[in-house]
Amino acid sequence: MRPTGGAAEREVEVYSVPLNVRFRGVDHREGVLVHGMAGVGEFSPFWDYGVEESASWLAAALEAADVGFPEPVRSSVPVNCTVPAVAAPRAAEIVSGPHGCRTAKVKVAEPGQRLEDDVARVAAVRAALGPEGKVRLDANGGWSVAEAVTALRELDAFDLEYAEQPVASVEDLAQLRRRVDIPIAADESIRRAEDPLRVKWLGAADIAVLKVQPLGGVRACLRLAEQLEMPVVVSSAVETSVGIAAGVALAAALPALPYACGLATTSMLTTDVVTHPLVPVDGEICVRAVAVERCHVDAVRADADTSRRWRERFAACEGVLQNRLR
Ligand SMILES: [Mg+2]
Repeated sequence: MRPTGGAAEREVEVYSVPLNVRFRGVDHREGVLVHGMAGVGEFSPFWDYGVEESASWLAAALEAADVGFPEPVRSSVPVNCTVPAVAAPRAAEIVSGPHGCRTAKVKVAEPGQRLEDDVARVAAVRAALGPEGKVRLDANGGWSVAEAVTALRELDAFDLEYAEQPVASVEDLAQLRRRVDIPIAADESIRRAEDPLRVKWLGAADIAVLKVQPLGGVRACLRLAEQLEMPVVVSSAVETSVGIAAGVALAAALPALPYACGLATTSMLTTDVVTHPLVPVDGEICVRAVAVERCHVDAVRADADTSRRWRERFAACEGVLQNRLR
């Protein structure tokens, strides 16, 4: 796709939405809404991403704004609820929320916590969901191989669907996968890797977690999914409903979708930029376009300094994309 216009000429809006809980060290989610002929896209790389890496996020936003999404093959997408590294009673409350999700992703291996904390949390989630529900873990690479073997053998007593990024490196994922029975999902090992296909070559994962913005758009993810030749779970980067719509579009266009997706994250934001946010009803998010409403954007418009920094970042990433086309 040809990146044209630029933040100077193109209609863009910088937003800053307060979060309900601190996430990755921030209490506001900031980004740029990019308007185009096909719709609206979201450009919201976290600030620890450099320009080269953030350019993929811009490619995703421009796809949504200028090209639109591929035809869906399903009309709704099953999603999971997410249980942060909270105490067991709170974990049970989250699972029983109004979202109606029958799948829960439980954060484990939190720095400063012990395996007993993870066991108590996962036990509470299993009890709240009942035997029919699905429980998956996300360790965000927090365990060593030895720790993961011990933890997964103990936690598998609660009948786990899979473990996401239990260890940090692709080599360690491959080693661990040969030592435990529970399926392994790769997240950071795909989206922040030089070569996302290494997980396949090394036999490091059973499932691929794909996120639209870091991987450069819906079509780029569809191509990657085909090359990876493994089932895909689409996850969000904690975006507004504009970014979530791209994740839903990917999940809706995949030929097969055997697992619930991690797209029920707008509840982490105190407000949204659309009138009807993409939230789950009975555990599913409807596949539909979203329309940004002026009044909602006005309410979360970033201050002048934040806006300037995002416009500069947008322009820098646009330069990277133009260089890639040369
Ligand atoms: Mg993850």
